[in-house]
Amino acid sequence: MSLVRQGDRSRPRPRTHDLDAVVVGAGGAGLYAALELKRDLGPEARIGVISKLYPTRSHTGAAQGGVCAALGNTEEDNWEWHWFDTVKGGDYLVDQDAAEVMCHDAVETVINLEHLGLPFNRTPEGLIDQRRFGGHTRNFGEGPVRRACYAADRTGHHILQTLYEQCIRHDVLFYDEYQVLDLAMPAGADGRVNGVIALQLSSGEVHSFRAKAVLFATGGFGKIFKVTSNAHTLTGDGVAIAYRRGLPLEDMEFFQFHPTGMYKLGFLLSEAMRGEGGFLVNGKGERFMERYAPTMKDLASRDVVSRSIYQEIAAGRGIDGKDFVHLDVRHLGAKVLNEKLPDMSGFIRTYFGIEPLTDLVPIQPTAHYAMGGIPTDIDGRVLADESGRLVPGFFAAGECACVSVHGANRLGTNSLLDILVFGRRAGIAMAEEVRRAHTPEPDTAAEASVTAALDELLARTEGERPAVIREELQETMFTKCGVYRSSALLMQAWGEVDDLRVRAQQLVVQDKGKRYNTDLGEALELLFLLDCAEALVASAVARTESRGAHAREDYPDRDDVNWLKHTFAFRWSDGAPPRLAYRPATITRFEPKPRTY
Ligand SMILES: Cc1cc2nc3c(=O)[nH]c(=O)nc-3n(C[C@H](O)[C@H](O)[C@H](O)COP(=O)(O)OP(=O)(O)OC[C@H]3O[C@@H](n4cnc5c(N)ncnc54)[C@H](O)[C@@H]3O)c2cc1C
Repeated sequence: MSLVRQGDRSRPRPRTHDLDAVVVGAGGAGLYAALELKRDLGPEARIGVISKLYPTRSHTGAAQGGVCAALGNTEEDNWEWHWFDTVKGGDYLVDQDAAEVMCHDAVETVINLEHLGLPFNRTPEGLIDQRRFGGHTRNFGEGPVRRACYAADRTGHHILQTLYEQCIRHDVLFYDEYQVLDLAMPAGADGRVNGVIALQLSSGEVHSFRAKAVLFATGGFGKIFKVTSNAHTLTGDGVAIAYRRGLPLEDMEFFQFHPTGMYKLGFLLSEAMRGEGGFLVNGKGERFMERYAPTMKDLASRDVVSRSIYQEIAAGRGIDGKDFVHLDVRHLGAKVLNEKLPDMSGFIRTYFGIEPLTDLVPIQPTAHYAMGGIPTDIDGRVLADESGRLVPGFFAAGECACVSVHGANRLGTNSLLDILVFGRRAGIAMAEEVRRAHTPEPDTAAEASVTAALDELLARTEGERPAVIREELQETMFTKCGVYRSSALLMQAWGEVDDLRVRAQQLVVQDKGKRYNTDLGEALELLFLLDCAEALVASAVARTESRGAHAREDYPDRDDVNWLKHTFAFRWSDGAPPRLAYRPATITRFEPKPRTY
């Protein structure tokens, strides 16, 4: 079932809110954009943030290890080394002009955050302390460098609190617990986006928000996988809505698996544990990363470490021959574990019932981060197609967007940086748009269509429960579209996702109530997940090479001649496979080279 379809136009119109700009999503990207909009447009501007979660529950709050910037506070560093590491980490699919902006602006961004009130850890001299993270090197790859600025292992929590406080201080309007279900794109407005249609979770009523500029900052979609570090709410809503509206999704085939998920649970044990000196060992007690990445070892990029773990397991060197290895942090000592990694140590004690000071910790790669998403330029403006044409009034930032600064594989700590740099830039560009644009027209067709689709879903009395289909989807994606892929597995995944999409047209929601109907929410989110999965699998089938997080057993090599380009996947029409188009990666400074760590 799609929410974009003809509705019953005879219904009363939903309650309407007139704003200057609407930001959908209250994570780091959305909050920074809202703050900039308000600072730029002044106290009279009506800037609204819509969030399906209470803002400080957004997933940014779960980010642990740090945000990187070449401050050089604890050892020599240079923003150009960071730029190179980002491009190399992304296996050269990164748009180098965008990564240049991000790495250059990182230093100012982190200092701004500190001025906004973020309590970073300090060096004995009182500077912002920095620690090591995977793939971050000195002097273009000579060895690891301390580049991650951190607040214990609660960096994201502090970013979220700091930005939320600032938004409240600047009178940003918050619409908490509203789930956006569609974009307003009235016919005859040249494809302009001028609002959103949302479900108020507390009342079950549909609301219409009209604005001169709209930002999607709705986060990732890790919940398509069975084992994931992502929260239950990361269901790709914004990504799927854009796709349903005929807009492209870029590089969806690149989904990062983080090496150190807690075995079977998927919860993340931050790379900061290896950054502080932890290392991986196999069933024979060997520090196996020395074989795969002689220079960076356990701090090689995440795709490399995750594949190495799988190779150890495939060679029978998992722990007791099983599908996991160990993380050893015993030697870090109580001071480091309790003061610099308190949450991680707590997770290990709580969820495994073991003591990280004395026990080895079972880990396996966990689905973690979407490199792909809604394509944008460096100011968050959404691209309508592979030629770079823009969608008027529409912006995206954060994990739901693809700038593309992460290419085929993101470096740790570059996501918090991405949401801050590009969230802020999107806010500034939106302010310009608000000054230029006219008062928006309502999209009555979209309003009616959302209402009718919700009514239809609630009225159905027979069909399949969302949880059954979601579990099958997660199993399919994890086992057939995970760390290693092949044509055979991907084709199976494609067929299975297709079947699930057909079955999902007859979803049944047992709770027929209006207030906080989580059963309905699960159904809506499943439909979003299925759209994301479709675009991901179709893009992965077509890319006949191995690059970054997309590792194909049948095409083990990177193929720069044919594949140094971004995938753009378009929803064709209900039932037809997505249409794929391509756009060359932007190379400005670093020529692609073989990638070793
Ligand atoms: C466990 C974990 C640890 C991490 N640690 C780090 C780290 O140390 N460093 C780093 O750089 N990166 C880290 N990351 C990645 C990083 O945290 C995320 O990529 C980033 O925070 C995403 O921010 P965002 O603003 O794009 O979205 P989010 O913070 O996920 O916010 C999404 C927002 O969108 C809203 N929303 C979604 N759908 C709708 C809808 N339909 N209607 C209305 N609102 C909606 C949600 O309510 C929420 O407010 C980590 C990720 C995880 C999972």
